[in-house]
Amino acid sequence: YDDRDGVIWMDGEFVDWREAKVHVLSHALHYASSVFEGERAYNGKIFKSREHNERLFKSAEALDMPMPITLDELEAAKQETLKKSGLQDAYVRVVVWRGSGEDMGVASAANPVRVAIAVWEWGAYYGDAKMQGAKLDIAEWKRPSPETIPVHAKAAGLYMICTISKHKAEAKGCSDALFMDYRGYVAEATGANIFFVKDGEVHTPLPDSFLNGITRQTVIGMLKDRGITVYERHIMPEEMTEFEQCWLTGTAAEVTPVGQIGDYTFEVGDITREIAEAYEELVRA
Ligand code: PMP
Repeated sequence: YDDRDGVIWMDGEFVDWREAKVHVLSHALHYASSVFEGERAYNGKIFKSREHNERLFKSAEALDMPMPITLDELEAAKQETLKKSGLQDAYVRVVVWRGSGEDMGVASAANPVRVAIAVWEWGAYYGDAKMQGAKLDIAEWKRPSPETIPVHAKAAGLYMICTISKHKAEAKGCSDALFMDYRGYVAEATGANIFFVKDGEVHTPLPDSFLNGITRQTVIGMLKDRGITVYERHIMPEEMTEFEQCWLTGTAAEVTPVGQIGDYTFEVGDITREIAEAYEELVRA
């Protein structure tokens, strides 16, 4: 991704894409002092931009990183970066991290907090699996307890087990991995939330140990608007035997049907199709 044309917004100015570099002694690289957002623009407009900005600020606060710009400055910088990309449909990545500076130890209050924004084209997150039903592996790692790490921050450190679990899943021919949480309840995929359908009703894990995704919240609203009952609750993995449909939600994943999780199988059914199509319409409305 580093060798391409374009510009990246870094700490208040645009730099050439190939020159958007950081020092190897950046605090973030050593100690995961980094938070980020993944957003999508449709027809030139960033979907749920304000919600993403607010989550970013909360994530930075959770990691004790004072934001060097205001919410309004962030919004303006994102809009300008999107405009300069020339793209209408695009992925927007905002990253905030502790840079290099006075400290090389764990404590780093003197090191500057830095911000960058990059925009690029990103098609269907699960590629061909998108409407046929993705195949998921069950991850060996568990989502950690909220007492061990700030689980609601979109923080780089929380993605370590995502990367290793997704590598393992892909090596088995799966599109992604599904995590259980520290208690054994169904949690989320490596970059998306999960929903199930049984007897015309929807069940989705309670986000008490993982990200309450912006897409997740949007989709719950869409289901309720349609009069479909949604249960947000703790779900045991064995319950997957009885669930008929399943899908993932996320900014990158959008609404992606799931056909298989380990030995459990699901159909790409009516509610899944309706919600996937309605989401596509909503983001462009
Ligand atoms: N869980 C994880 C771990 C994620 O990375 C994402 C993507 N940000 C989500 C859930 C879905 O969140 P959102 O709908 O806000 O993109």
